Amino acid sequence: MKVMLLGAPGAGKGTVAKLLTALDGSVQISTGDILRAEVRAGSDLGKKAEAFMKAGDLVPDSLIMDMMEKRLQQEDCKKGFLLDGFPRTIPQAQDLKKMMAKLNIDLDMVINIDVPRPVILDRLCTRRTCVNADCQAIYNVKSNPTKVEGICDKCGSPAVQREDETEAAITHRLETYNEKTAPLIGFYEKEGKFKNVPCTSSDDVVNAVKEALKL
Ligand code: AMP
Repeated sequence: MKVMLLGAPGAGKGTVAKLLTALDGSVQISTGDILRAEVRAGSDLGKKAEAFMKAGDLVPDSLIMDMMEKRLQQEDCKKGFLLDGFPRTIPQAQDLKKMMAKLNIDLDMVINIDVPRPVILDRLCTRRTCVNADCQAIYNVKSNPTKVEGICDKCGSPAVQREDETEAAITHRLETYNEKTAPLIGFYEKEGKFKNVPCTSSDDVVNAVKEALKL
């Protein structure tokens, strides 16, 4: 499947993407994950992106578009992909449209994961992520805690609060979302193949995709 997942930070795009990859072997393309890997590797892109990410600001569109043009041409995308966290601005969406026409790629659908704001705030403040780049398991101190506090169940590395998941950074990320990313809903409503899924559970979204794509 070729599906774009829209939604605020903490709406569950990553969780839904992982569940959907298990259905048909499509790959998850998370711009946040790619950028974090670049920061860890100390690459040119990582050095340019790091300060924006720490502050909860968006990384400039030109850097994101160059990165995604390369990613979408990799072999594993041929089976299908889930766009998770991209596009995040109207200029990214406009450029993506041109890029997909050039690369001959057609999206099956665009899903907006529409989660109430109090649920989002609570989720983000209580999320913990494994620091091991090969694991990156996600926990929640309330609903899905690690067995030993602060230690990943799967690999034994520390499971910590991400630097951009402090209360101040989260508030700023949500403001950025409202200003820059929420307008994508109107953009894709006009483009067609758009579905809004009001929900609090990732399974609701997976079921909506299955139904729409007859999986
Ligand atoms: P995420 O894991 O999707 O919440 O992304 C973490 C951070 O990476 C964001 O707060 C941004 O700083 C940056 N980022 C991820 N995707 C994009 C994008 N499409 N455009 C600009 N910045 C992005």
